[in-house]
Amino acid sequence: PTPAGQPDVLVVGGGIGGLSTAYALSRQGLRVRVLEQAPEYGEVGAGLQIAPNCTRILAEYGLLDEATSLGVVPENMVMRDALDARELTRLDLRDLERRYGFPYMVIHRSDLHGIFLRACERAGVELLNNQVVVGYENVEGGARVLLQDGRTESAPLVVAADGLHSVARRALIGDEVVNSSYVAYRAAVPIEQVKDNGIAEDDVTVYVGPGCHFVQYALRGGEMFNQVAVFESPKALAGQEDWGTPDELDAAFEGTCDTVRKGIPLMWRDRWWRMFDREPVETWVHGRIALLGDAAHPPLQYMAQGAIMAIEDGWVLARHYARLAGAAPSLADPDWDGALAAYEAVRVEHCRRVQTTARAWGELWHLDGEARLRRNAIMRARDARDYSFTDWVYGPTALTPAEEPEMFTPIPLSSATVEQPVA
Ligand code: FAD
Repeated sequence: PTPAGQPDVLVVGGGIGGLSTAYALSRQGLRVRVLEQAPEYGEVGAGLQIAPNCTRILAEYGLLDEATSLGVVPENMVMRDALDARELTRLDLRDLERRYGFPYMVIHRSDLHGIFLRACERAGVELLNNQVVVGYENVEGGARVLLQDGRTESAPLVVAADGLHSVARRALIGDEVVNSSYVAYRAAVPIEQVKDNGIAEDDVTVYVGPGCHFVQYALRGGEMFNQVAVFESPKALAGQEDWGTPDELDAAFEGTCDTVRKGIPLMWRDRWWRMFDREPVETWVHGRIALLGDAAHPPLQYMAQGAIMAIEDGWVLARHYARLAGAAPSLADPDWDGALAAYEAVRVEHCRRVQTTARAWGELWHLDGEARLRRNAIMRARDARDYSFTDWVYGPTALTPAEEPEMFTPIPLSSATVEQPVA
């Protein structure tokens, strides 16, 4: 049993990964303490796309209704060429919802973060601020973190959900982030400001172009409009320090279609997000210290699965804890080693696939010249109801490697959804 005053689990980082994991574990009756470095809990940025593999989990947590009431459930996801605006392919998101049983939605980041924050508060998670974690070590029966002010905190399990520039990752793996030379600008503006820009209010639209792309969708019940502009920075390619600046943004989208060009002046110009990922690694668990979310598997965001993977991680960990706790003679001595091994066994490979597919997806989006025309022809020929590219990611989150679907092989439809021939 953990000593009085000591939690069962310490979670470092109160982003979407850390809070959703704290909530998942507290639902199992565990005492969870979150250590967040910032003086307040919050999220910066604008919209997040949440696919059915995550809305399924939100539904299980009893949080989906709150999420859909704060967000938007769009009609379609449409991909267009950023230069000539022609449609390349689409997903009918109502049909997609029928296939996977849960909606594809979009939500403001701070709204999703707030949902998990309130859920944690209701569940009794201890949420601490101004806790800068600078070191990690395994100790007898658990792990310990060292804080900047010299204090230490220990627990049978430490989950490091401290994001892309994770201190835990530096200590345990020591690899560097990989610079993509791409940069993202974001903006969420009142929808009135874009009504005359040729936008599709009910859709998620992705314009793909040479070395750039542009994403648009409505947020907050349709009152706001979210835009993301992403481009390859010439200054980054030239090795200059000062890269991704607003002059580069304007230049990158100069030759694009009307709707995209009209959106560019609305982008926030006082901050931008340089885009990094990391090479996938196979070991996320070191004794009783487990990496989770972007600390374990930061992707380029082209699959829109980064926050989702973090939420899935916590769900998987909690499910394995519960499975083994059910088998254990006493709840006082949980089989964390077993739960962590099961977590790592399934999540590492899934997230590796998402990370590497996101890189390849980005290359395809950003093609130029003849390669762009070939891509467009192939995409236009795609059957809009072909789900072989989405089943492996939008289907139910696997708990074991055996449950992880093959990539690009459609999951056979259940007998309930297969049309029966008329006799
Ligand atoms: P973070 O959100 O980075 O949280 C880490 C937390 O740890 C922070 O609160 C930080 O303050 C804290 N912390 C860090 N270091 C310490 C320390 N030493 N001590 C204590 N606390 C610490 N994902 C999607 O699923 N869908 C999308 O549509 C999507 N779109 C995206 C668009 C863009 C432009 C970008 C850049 C990303 C996008 N993502 C998307 C990815 C998603 O934002 C991230 O994968 C996700 O937020 C990661 O969550 P996290 O909790 O692991 O890390």
